[in-house]
Amino acid sequence: MGKIGLYLCECGPNIAEAIDLDRITAEIKKDAKVAGIERFKLLCSEDGKRFVTESIKERGYERVVIAACSPKQHQATFEQVVANAGLNAHVFQMVNIREQCAWATPDKEQATSKALRFIRAAIGRVRYHWPLEQKEIECSPDTIVIGGGTAGIEAALRIAQKGRKVFLLEKDEPGGTRRDREWMAARVDALRNNPLIEVYEHCKIRELLGFFGSFVAHLETREGNEVQLKAGSVVLATGAVAFDPTGLAGYGYRELEGVSTVREFEKAASDASDGHPKSVAVIHCVGREKLGYCSGTCCVEAMRVARRVKEASAETEVTEFYRDLCLPGTEHDRFYHETAKTGVRFVRFRDIDVAREGPGLVVRYRQEDGSSGSVVADAVVLSAGVAAGPANAEFARMFNIPLDEHGFFQSEHPVLNPVGTVTEGVFVVGGCRGPAGALDATAQAGAAAGKVLSALVPGRRLRLETRTSEVAEALCVGCGICVAACAYGAATLNEDRHIAVVNEVLCRGCGNCAAACPSGAAQHRQFTTRQMDQEVTQILR
Ligand SMILES: Cc1cc2nc3c(=O)[nH]c(=O)nc-3n(C[C@H](O)[C@H](O)[C@H](O)COP(=O)(O)OP(=O)(O)OC[C@H]3O[C@@H](n4cnc5c(N)ncnc54)[C@H](O)[C@@H]3O)c2cc1C
Ligand code: SF4
Ligand code: SF4
Ligand code: SF4
Repeated sequence: MGKIGLYLCECGPNIAEAIDLDRITAEIKKDAKVAGIERFKLLCSEDGKRFVTESIKERGYERVVIAACSPKQHQATFEQVVANAGLNAHVFQMVNIREQCAWATPDKEQATSKALRFIRAAIGRVRYHWPLEQKEIECSPDTIVIGGGTAGIEAALRIAQKGRKVFLLEKDEPGGTRRDREWMAARVDALRNNPLIEVYEHCKIRELLGFFGSFVAHLETREGNEVQLKAGSVVLATGAVAFDPTGLAGYGYRELEGVSTVREFEKAASDASDGHPKSVAVIHCVGREKLGYCSGTCCVEAMRVARRVKEASAETEVTEFYRDLCLPGTEHDRFYHETAKTGVRFVRFRDIDVAREGPGLVVRYRQEDGSSGSVVADAVVLSAGVAAGPANAEFARMFNIPLDEHGFFQSEHPVLNPVGTVTEGVFVVGGCRGPAGALDATAQAGAAAGKVLSALVPGRRLRLETRTSEVAEALCVGCGICVAACAYGAATLNEDRHIAVVNEVLCRGCGNCAAACPSGAAQHRQFTTRQMDQEVTQILR
């Protein structure tokens, strides 16, 4: 099991004054498992690192335990030090006697006893550490972007700006749902004229397989040709869709003439040549209760309608009916005040009902205080929320990405990795990961582009995670429990051999499969049953 060297760090006074390191040395010396104990003032200093490297070589240690600070701070530092001494970086275990003992337990006696248990546990487990192989794979630095709206175009242009190849796949024509068509036309031009971006419009994605560094997409082009594309990462930017208010009680959509959605109203207004309506009612938050969330963009969209109506005809009376006003940022707040100044009336409602009476539409409403009123309008415009698009379910299955309860893609972590997903190399940006205004969609696309550019560098091979799981074939009964436990799609069943297999490229080493496996066949390489057994036994000794 090899000669074990133990290094105790004083961390200046941090550890030395809070823990009795002499007692620890004396107690551990009684233990035949350790070949030598070394103590140093500041192990992470240049002198400290050199000291560890040299002494490992001189004394011929084959396993190393370092009792110092949190592994979050210096695990990587000491793995490198151990590697510099000619050992595999994984025959090493770090013990946190600073944050978990010196700083957490005020009584010196108790802190020392606790540190002693932790160190014994590390010595116990390091005896069963074995070298782990650092594997590397070839990877493609190219990127596939799916969806040619605000977010997809931004991501593609940013990635191409750094000299990388991008394939942009769009089911229709690039442009997406953004309102500002002039601005969008310029972006589409920039996209089409970029020599590093290949745009496939009106294409169908038949299949997209693979993993980080090596994805393969099979497409069918508009002309019916089959095309195969290879890339190292995928950016999903398939957007969202407008909520359809058909059948929603009280609004009369598709039942009453004159009731339309924002887009329908604007289209009709731009096509019409005859006069202006005398009165328009715009209703916010349509579908919010059914959707279960605020879409964040419909209030502003509703006010834009009012502004356009007023610009076309200042005499037209416009009433905006809202439940809550969602005005994120100073810009939108200013927009609201400017809109109110143009003579647009804002009415807060609790209940609303649209009916046709004679030649006009009547909007009856009840307010929070119980009072009620009505407005006669020639046109009623429904500003509906945003719902998850139909493409989400298909891509979620393809890439093994979870959807949230509303059908939007779930990012790996809302704060720590908001555009990444549980599938490494697959990013989600814009409306497909939740309602997003154009500014948010653009910012998310920039974030994903940054991640793609830093993760896949031309000529560099991809270093795989070493602390992964594996399946002992002889013990595996093919029950599939590990497959269900794996959130990353790394554990799969080999149907022919009736055993589980772990794809090392996808495996993040979370250990879920090993914890779930009833037969002990799935094992985490650095949390084996042996290692864990030793660790727990020594802690409880
Ligand atoms: C109804 C509605 C109203 C909105 N109102 C506002 C507003 O008032 N103000 C505001 O700031 N923002 C608004 N937004 C949001 C605005 O559209 C977005 O901020 C921004 O355009 C989102 O960009 P995106 O790239 O995520 O999506 P989109 O611009 O919608 O682009 C998505 C693209 O993906 C393509 N696509 C979808 N499925 C596939 C597939 N399977 N394969 C290939 N391509 C696919 C689509 O054809 C589309 O071109 C609204 C969005 C919607 C849906
Ligand atoms: S290795 Fe950690 S415990 Fe030791 S001196 Fe550095 S910071 Fe302090
Ligand atoms: S450790 Fe197991 S559960 Fe976790 S990612 Fe790897 S295969 Fe999946
Ligand atoms: S849970 Fe264990 S026994 Fe079942 S398939 Fe996975 S590795 Fe095999």
